[in-house]
Amino acid sequence: MPAQQRRFSRSSLKWLAALTTVGLLMGLYYFFRPPLVPLGPPTVISRLEWGAQAPDPRLQSEAGPEVFNTIVIHHSAMQLYEGPRDIQYTHMHQRGFLDIGYHFVIDGWGRIYEGRSLAVHGAHVKEHNAGTLGIVLMGNYEEIVPAAEPLARLKWLIRELMQRYPITHLAGHRDFLPGQTVCPGKNLEPLLPQLAADLGLQFGAGGYSGPEPAAGPTASPAVSPPSLSASEASSR
Ligand SMILES: [Zn+2]
Repeated sequence: MPAQQRRFSRSSLKWLAALTTVGLLMGLYYFFRPPLVPLGPPTVISRLEWGAQAPDPRLQSEAGPEVFNTIVIHHSAMQLYEGPRDIQYTHMHQRGFLDIGYHFVIDGWGRIYEGRSLAVHGAHVKEHNAGTLGIVLMGNYEEIVPAAEPLARLKWLIRELMQRYPITHLAGHRDFLPGQTVCPGKNLEPLLPQLAADLGLQFGAGGYSGPEPAAGPTASPAVSPPSLSASEASSR
């Protein structure tokens, strides 16, 4: 029955168009949706809250006093809507790290997540992980410009850390490894000298005193160094 077939066909097309429209709208909402909850006052979302995987036990055995004097800023070079779980998965399951490499993650909306334990070295600046505290901003700042909120939260976080550690310097990843990485991106790196000045810190890698930070007066006798995986020992 050709007439009925034509009617059926037109009806199907209408449904297809409707479903496509709904699909497009859902896609647009997914990419541009607001945060599920308002940001509220700055706080750090714990590993438990974001569902972190437990670190490799070899990392926990390293726990001890770590003295940070330099904050190192990174970009994730990933999508804004990704987060600490995506980074941790990449670091542990694709790069062989013992945990997420950074100490903190700040997502595209400015939410701050606890990363690697502050009792251990990060794995974020190749051969410069002693005494350097790694903070990563989600996003690829070679391509996009950082939003105001993540930058404001970054400043808040650094101020908090300055209460706890004798931080003297702020640097971008590439300041430690010129020519080897563009991290944290051409649109974020130029903002760092002013951020350092606002915080009363010096800008650049000049504060690095590695390979190991000097032990404080209350430090316990040297414990045997952990056997880090080769990939982590020279990470990034
Ligand atoms: Zn980096």
